[in-house]
Amino acid sequence: MPRSRWTIGNWKQNLLRDAAEELATAVVGDLPEPVAEGGKQVRVGIAPSYVALDVVRPWVRPQGPLFLFAQDVAAQDEGAFTGEVGPAMLHDVGVHGTLVGHSERRIHFGETDQGVARKVQVALEAELRVVLCVGEGLEIRESGEHETYVVSQLSAALSNLPLELVGERLILAYEPVWAIGTGKTATPRDAAGMHRRLRAWMEQQFGAAGADRSILYGGSVKPNNAAALMAAGDVDGFLVGGASLEAEAFLQIVRLVVSAA
Ligand code: PEP
Repeated sequence: MPRSRWTIGNWKQNLLRDAAEELATAVVGDLPEPVAEGGKQVRVGIAPSYVALDVVRPWVRPQGPLFLFAQDVAAQDEGAFTGEVGPAMLHDVGVHGTLVGHSERRIHFGETDQGVARKVQVALEAELRVVLCVGEGLEIRESGEHETYVVSQLSAALSNLPLELVGERLILAYEPVWAIGTGKTATPRDAAGMHRRLRAWMEQQFGAAGADRSILYGGSVKPNNAAALMAAGDVDGFLVGGASLEAEAFLQIVRLVVSAA
């Protein structure tokens, strides 16, 4: 079966509940059918803030193609962990998955590789989808060590993950930190090169179950660069920040992901 293609919008700390509902309805109103021409699965996700999840939930059609994601999840199931939101709570409001290890969480909130590894495992065990985010900062890119660095992030997050949890619910996102919200994008060649490297590691570690995972690119993806990034090969869709806050821009990206060869 071909790898699933995804377009996932990360709304970050934006939009009050009314605005979130308005954006969700605009996106849902114009989404392609769950199965597009040629039998391709259309998979689209949105990740509103925790407090907007319940107003967006009714707009998520059970038959797809729209899936609801949280932007983070606790590293434990439940207990005395003030401020945390666990996987069962996410299920309770109808969430299908969560981002884990976004660079903004690593940089601004001290998220460690160990914490990311725990979150990935806890969320997958709870049968949530996980978008595991990895990516290097500018200094590392300029030093030429970016592939080694990103592979080490992947290895820290996944090396101890039981093989039975490596399946369709695990999605990877390569997001170079220097490209997030900056208007700079990795060249299609750079993105494809990194994706190949990550896929090779996944195959070496987990065999076919690892090699078949969808790998998304994220970092200033817009309607005007999405087609070239998809055409580079080995890019299975996008994690989109800024452009996901405008329904038409996000939908254009969705259509480009669906129509890419
Ligand atoms: C992101 O936050 O994951 C992201 C890729 O943001 P942007 O598209 O704004 O660079």
